[in-house]
Amino acid sequence: MNDSDAKLRRRTVASRILLSYALMALAFVAVTISNVGSQRAAARDAEMMRAGYFPLVLALRNASAGQDTWNTQLNHITSARNPSDKALWFETTLQLGRSRGFSEIRAALARVFDSATLQVVNSQLVSQTRDVEEFLTGDAKLIKNIFEALKQKDSARAESLRDELVTRGAQGRRLLGDLESAVQDQITELLDKARAREGRAVTLLLIWTMLSLLVGALVALYARRVLRPLSHVTARARVVAAGDMSPRPVVYTPDEIGELASTFEAMVLAIREANEKLLTTERLATIGKMAAQVTHEIRNPLSSLALNLELLEEELQEADSETRSLLAAVQGEVERLTALSGRYLSLARSSHPATESEDLGQLAREAVNFLRADLSRSGIEVELAVQGDLPAALVDEGQIRQVLINLIRNAQEAMATPGQVTVGLKHTGDSIDITVDDEGAGIETEHLGRIFDPFFTTKSHGTGLGLVVTREIVEAHGGSITAESLESGGARFRVKLPAARSSDSESLN
Ligand code: ADP
Repeated sequence: MNDSDAKLRRRTVASRILLSYALMALAFVAVTISNVGSQRAAARDAEMMRAGYFPLVLALRNASAGQDTWNTQLNHITSARNPSDKALWFETTLQLGRSRGFSEIRAALARVFDSATLQVVNSQLVSQTRDVEEFLTGDAKLIKNIFEALKQKDSARAESLRDELVTRGAQGRRLLGDLESAVQDQITELLDKARAREGRAVTLLLIWTMLSLLVGALVALYARRVLRPLSHVTARARVVAAGDMSPRPVVYTPDEIGELASTFEAMVLAIREANEKLLTTERLATIGKMAAQVTHEIRNPLSSLALNLELLEEELQEADSETRSLLAAVQGEVERLTALSGRYLSLARSSHPATESEDLGQLAREAVNFLRADLSRSGIEVELAVQGDLPAALVDEGQIRQVLINLIRNAQEAMATPGQVTVGLKHTGDSIDITVDDEGAGIETEHLGRIFDPFFTTKSHGTGLGLVVTREIVEAHGGSITAESLESGGARFRVKLPAARSSDSESLN
């Protein structure tokens, strides 16, 4: 997985919290929609009751009541003292009362059953209404006949017509009653449905509410989990502010908080390293000043001492061997002191490298040749392996030569018995790797972190400054130096120096 993939896959804290709230909002919208839906269904039912069923029931009730009155009036039709009054009542009822009653029923039916789902029920009720109306229309002729018979005083015919009308009246009342109960059934069905729907709506509302509460709780927990690493970072910042710069493992999460934590830890490490470097630099600066003074005081008398010893040596050519060996010992010590003061001097003089494009292979060859004779006296062979097409490097020739000599000298000093020192140079990436391998005892693990510290030495006559100077030079060249113990025994020092860009190498050729 490369870096951009990781970035794509990583969701930001803000987007995750936004997503959680979107989820909450969705749950809330679902609850609202479900609620509004059931409210609207209830309102529709109530409206159907108010505008449709109630007027329909009333109209049917009126029609039935009218029919009851009709039936009652029929009982007295033949015994009426004033038949023309009766005739007027029946005619008015037939022409106005009934037709108005039925048109009210039809209008109410149209209002109730205008929805498509109820069309079947509607057409049944409409045809039932039409049947009743048609049936009752037959009364008009009989009423007309009965009053004619009464006018002609044909009471026998009037009686029989009345009986027929009474039978029809009862039948009409029955038909109206059937229509009423059909509508009642419809109302009961509607109420049952509304009740069932209300029950379902309440259950659904409860489920949605529980679900949205659950989502809310989960979102809250999730947000807490996402933000928890922030408290670690804050606690760590507090510890660092109190001065504790020791490295801690980073609790990494794949988001900005994780990035903040690792960046913060990297920053702490950088500050720590910068502090340590500052401390080393300060110490080196002090050593530099001291070295400059001491060297100034010592080097002149030392060189006259060396000169005088040479003169003394010439004078004592005839002297006995004990005197000569004493002289050689004194000369040796003077040489050692001269070398020691030289090291201090190089530390004091550590200046910016004056770089030029150099062939490092050639530089290494010269350094090795310079030391070869001395090393072979200790039974040590130097092997030089330089990669063929090594690019040039921008270096200060004198300083890099000193680096090579320091490392080869250390290798020599590390080897108590005869063996081989291998100096290798090869090109890796943008840099040139110089390795110096020896066959000594290697570096003890607990010393690995300290060998570049000023004055760290494991040698009885060591100064602990060689590697300090070496690292100063390498870092001033933009390079790095590392040390490791080899599995085969011995140590390896690796110097990485930046290779010159192609334009620089061209200038070399
Ligand atoms: P000095 O040589 O005066 O001790 P340096 O700074 O050159 O000072 O080296 C510091 C220490 O690093 C040495 O005392 C030694 O313990 C260790 N060291 C350096 N080079 C080697 C090596 N090639 N093999 C093992 N140890 C080494």
